Amino acid sequence: MLKDLVSIKFKDSIYSMHGISRKTVENHLKLYEGYVKKYNEIINKLKSVDLKSANQTFSDFRSLKIDLTFAIGGVRNHEVYFNHLGGAGGEPTGIIKEIFVENFGSYKAWADDLKASGMSARGWVWLAYDWYGQTWFNYLGDAQNTYPVWGASVVLALDTYEHAYWMDYGTDRASYIDAFLANLDWEAVNKTVRELGISK
Ligand code: FE
Repeated sequence: MLKDLVSIKFKDSIYSMHGISRKTVENHLKLYEGYVKKYNEIINKLKSVDLKSANQTFSDFRSLKIDLTFAIGGVRNHEVYFNHLGGAGGEPTGIIKEIFVENFGSYKAWADDLKASGMSARGWVWLAYDWYGQTWFNYLGDAQNTYPVWGASVVLALDTYEHAYWMDYGTDRASYIDAFLANLDWEAVNKTVRELGISK
């Protein structure tokens, strides 16, 4: 069965980034905490929902099951996002650097593709490893519960919803994506790769 979630406390350096303000981060974290609360509310409502009234046009059961995917996506994506921000950015180091070189040609080639993906997204972009195809790719997800790729593990997540940058950049999303790259914590990304057991 699904279990209640608790909000994660991220490292302090996410509050003092260059180009992504403390105010933006504090407001963004409120949205993350909201997803955690709603997820817990949904899984608790599912315990007492009327199964007999389940219906494809409308039913409480259908709404809860769909909104569950929106809530859990909101939780997981933001946990990936904030976990790998607050770093020095720049040229990557470690296994992720090798992954970029071997699968995209170079860090710059990967970053150019990520930026183009971010400029095309209506929400999320993910660098993920597809276990079936044994391939790396920048996937365009839009909302947190649209276009998932089954059997792929997310290693890096870029949030391009306006709440992630509007206070700092207005409509200038490209500059926000540059700031995102400039504040990445590559060691946090490498740790995720290691924890997932991806060899490369
Ligand atoms: Fe967000």
